[in-house]
Amino acid sequence: MVRSIDFAIVGAGPYGLSLGAYFAGAGANFKIFGSPMAVWRNHMPSGMYLKSEGFASTLFDPRRQHSLREFCARNGHPYADVGVPIPVELFYAYGRDFQQRLLPDLDTRHIARITAAGGGFLLRLDDGEVLRARKVVVAVGIAHYAYIPPELRELPSRFLWHTSEKRPMEQFFGRRVLVMGAGSSAVDTAGLLHQAGADVEIMTRRPKIWFNHAPDRKRGLALAYARLLKPRSGLGLGWRSYMASDLPTVFHRMPEQFRLRVTRGHLGPSAGWVSRTLVEDKVPIKVERTMRRAEVRGEKLHVTFTTPDGDEEVEADHLVAGTGYKVDLDRLEFLDEPIRQQISRVNSTPRLSRFFESSVPGLYFVGPSAANSFGPLLRFAWGAKFTSRHLTRHLTR
Ligand SMILES: Cc1cc2nc3c(=O)[nH]c(=O)nc-3n(C[C@H](O)[C@H](O)[C@H](O)COP(=O)(O)OP(=O)(O)OC[C@H]3O[C@@H](n4cnc5c(N)ncnc54)[C@H](O)[C@@H]3O)c2cc1C
Repeated sequence: MVRSIDFAIVGAGPYGLSLGAYFAGAGANFKIFGSPMAVWRNHMPSGMYLKSEGFASTLFDPRRQHSLREFCARNGHPYADVGVPIPVELFYAYGRDFQQRLLPDLDTRHIARITAAGGGFLLRLDDGEVLRARKVVVAVGIAHYAYIPPELRELPSRFLWHTSEKRPMEQFFGRRVLVMGAGSSAVDTAGLLHQAGADVEIMTRRPKIWFNHAPDRKRGLALAYARLLKPRSGLGLGWRSYMASDLPTVFHRMPEQFRLRVTRGHLGPSAGWVSRTLVEDKVPIKVERTMRRAEVRGEKLHVTFTTPDGDEEVEADHLVAGTGYKVDLDRLEFLDEPIRQQISRVNSTPRLSRFFESSVPGLYFVGPSAANSFGPLLRFAWGAKFTSRHLTRHLTR
């Protein structure tokens, strides 16, 4: 006999856990699946700091009793809403604590296959058990979407790795490593490799690396004036971030091309202010370098970049692709092919209703997969606040 539930949440990162806490608060008949906070433990470099500030690096529950601030106070960790960097290990421990307190029945099994059946869905778990759910919320974050440029995909893994693979940095002591990219994964990995004694260089096609603003030292009126010019939001400083952070439903009503442009262009690759201290005056940063090809000759890797002054060939022992993540529905192999075919898409991401529903009735997407519909907010944990409230109200009313 197949067990039936109303809602299945697939994924237990900040979005899945926050939504689970709201569903639990509303008394919904649901189950949440996945290894809690697994991405933060298995796919982020040890020693990394979050780029979001403390107040925006939290999970959400309807009674507001389980914030990062409360966890830090209870466990004696230093905390401030702004200005005290959050180590990734602390964020992981906090997420696990949140799960154990609010969602002790979470099922750590992975969903291997989702198929449509009788107006709902059948979910096959990784041990073969099958469950029926009326509605499914896909909250799988970024893990399926690591992006490696086609030119690099054939390189053997001893020469190439993506920043989402966690490798012990000590392995690279004395080795020459090129890190490609300009986002926080690239910059943090380069800084941590440098600390581990590697000879590192960052190569980016961008004209510079953008770092988030360090906390203001201003006080009183000067601070008030600065905040008027650049208000603070969960996505950082400035009016554009403020609007992206606080008006996701307005954003959803905008024309699709506008949404795509803003989501692509705003809050693109950047690194946290702590990351700056890891690389500044320590790791050479070469800008305007577009990678053309990479080949192995003997025991070395030879990478050719196009630069404003012509081609440049660089020799290295390893190349790290800090080339980020691209949402692509076809990477979600646990969704049965016929379901994936039915999902209306824009740029390989799902087109979503104002309640996160895809064109397949009963199938919802939250987190980074929903960014083209609701804006850059959905690429950050801060977006879980709006998402959990909005979706729970809709599904459990
Ligand atoms: C280097 C780096 C630094 C970042 N720093 C920040 C930051 O400082 N602040 C911030 O807000 N954001 C940061 N981000 C963005 C961050 O990835 C998102 O905020 C976050 O992923 C959103 O949470 P999520 O719940 O959508 O997904 P995730 O945290 O990615 O969690 C997804 C979950 O889904 C599970 N899952 C996947 N497939 C299945 C399946 N088939 N069955 C069951 N479970 C499954 C995974 O195990 C995982 O637990 C950073 C990203 C990177 C790469």
